[in-house]
Amino acid sequence: MLRRSRLLQAAGSCALAALCVASLPAAPAEPRRRVVLLSFDGVSGQRLERLLAEPGKLTAGGFRRIAARGFSASRSVPPTPALTAVSHITIATGALPQSTGIVANTMLDRSKPFGATMSGFDAPIRAETLWEASRRQGKRVGVVYFPGADGTSPARTADWALTWPGTPATRGRLQGVPLSAWQPVGDSPETTYSPARRAVLLMGQSGHSLTLTAVDATDDGAVNYDHLRVESETGAAQEVRTGDWFPVEVRSPESRTGAWCRLMALAPDLSKVEVYLGPLGHNTGYPKEFVREVDEKFGFWPGVGDKETFGAGSEHPELYVEQLERLAAFATRVQVWAIARPDWDLLLCYQSEVDSLSHEFLLVDPGQPGFTWERASRFADFVDHAYAIADRALDVIDRALTPEDTIFVTSDHGMTPIWTEIFPNELLRRAGLVRLDARGRTDTSSRAVAVVDGAIAHVYVNGNSDPALLEQIASALRELKVRGESPWERIVKRSEAGSLGLDAPESGDIIALARPGYHLSRRMPDPATPVGLPSEYGAHGYRNVYPEIQACYLAAGPGIAKGHADSINSWQIAARVAAALGIEPPRNAER
Ligand SMILES: [Zn+2]
Repeated sequence: MLRRSRLLQAAGSCALAALCVASLPAAPAEPRRRVVLLSFDGVSGQRLERLLAEPGKLTAGGFRRIAARGFSASRSVPPTPALTAVSHITIATGALPQSTGIVANTMLDRSKPFGATMSGFDAPIRAETLWEASRRQGKRVGVVYFPGADGTSPARTADWALTWPGTPATRGRLQGVPLSAWQPVGDSPETTYSPARRAVLLMGQSGHSLTLTAVDATDDGAVNYDHLRVESETGAAQEVRTGDWFPVEVRSPESRTGAWCRLMALAPDLSKVEVYLGPLGHNTGYPKEFVREVDEKFGFWPGVGDKETFGAGSEHPELYVEQLERLAAFATRVQVWAIARPDWDLLLCYQSEVDSLSHEFLLVDPGQPGFTWERASRFADFVDHAYAIADRALDVIDRALTPEDTIFVTSDHGMTPIWTEIFPNELLRRAGLVRLDARGRTDTSSRAVAVVDGAIAHVYVNGNSDPALLEQIASALRELKVRGESPWERIVKRSEAGSLGLDAPESGDIIALARPGYHLSRRMPDPATPVGLPSEYGAHGYRNVYPEIQACYLAAGPGIAKGHADSINSWQIAARVAAALGIEPPRNAER
């Protein structure tokens, strides 16, 4: 504005203004401010700092370069509870959960019969978000997977977005192909020295299928099939050998849809053939033309890791890592392409691999079930590798930026090892507060219900709460001891939760937070027990005071002073992003 008024003064002082203006030097173009906010789910600032200090780790150099060029903090303090939806919405608004209304990943849905829940990723956000504040001030916002801007209402809509796809159409599974399924065929499209045999595999209940032809490419007089020719519903046939991953794309009118599959075993005589059929997925987002462009350029959504099939307890945990590498590579390619687009000022990006691999492989404490030093060492490499995947992605993304761009890199929480699972609804059932229906679920006539995520239980009262009932709930939880110690960090009434940032109408009447090591389950255990073994090794969702739970923060670009701090708060990030973009921060943001 200042520059323009000076220009007008200069023009007005000239007697022959119209002629004079033409000879004035052109005003320098306003530097175009662009800001990328990139969140790596589950990156602990503490672990990141340790890896950065170790030679030979994080060799791609993404994190190191940004830290050297700009500002870094050893940790970013997440909100309590340190959960993905809660924390991302705090980052996006600059406000605590009691102002955003997102108090957990799963919350009570008061519009439904008592006990029904809704996702904190879908629930109304009460505070203004960065995408709203930016668009209100004339800036364009692009989103690649960052939670919240899912296009489901005007307040949740950016200019364009790829959203995180929901549950896939089919689950991933290992599929054996019995000898009897291989039918002889006379029309092999490839030369084969044993009679070609063909089998058709169904993709779950989806109605889609793929055709496999067993081929023997060696002219050695023996029946020894060595590879499969795979034909999908669309695309060229592929030659697949044992250990190969291969994409299977199906016919779909709306969007490119497919699954990444793998040939697990191929016995030369076909006595054992096993194929992993990945979950069928597709890209989601808005507007439709944007998603179509992503479909055309990058293909179908590759899917998340399949921990049911390839998790820590499986024979092939390394394949879970490979699935997440594929997802990270896909997300990075799309994000680099998004950066090159001209139609955004603020770009909100998200990647998930560190969270997934840390949940699955954070086996570090001999007290954890299944601990051996050998497994712990192998799994520690997987978690370090997850950070290396993020570092590689960051390296590529950073190189795609222009010198005018500012980048903020953060995460939503870290991770801590767990060894005990607690079932709050079983504790409430024993106190006569939760009733079960015929199917063993909490009944709508229950006097209270615990809605549970990570290490937090929001316990809601059915109808009016009276002090005696609240005390009964609190003591039903408080009385639990595990190996003689209390598993609880805090048990407070909602009205006392202001110091936790959780004094919100969306919160439970009683809020219970577990200590690290303990994880809460929303399930009703069968057989009934208040305490059991967890199904994962790492968890988050605790009070935000534990160093390993805290997140990371780095920023570099024009206007970012070089430096280092021990700690920043995640609710300060929105105002910093707004300042780099040259706009007023979101209305509820901490300055
Ligand atoms: Zn997360």
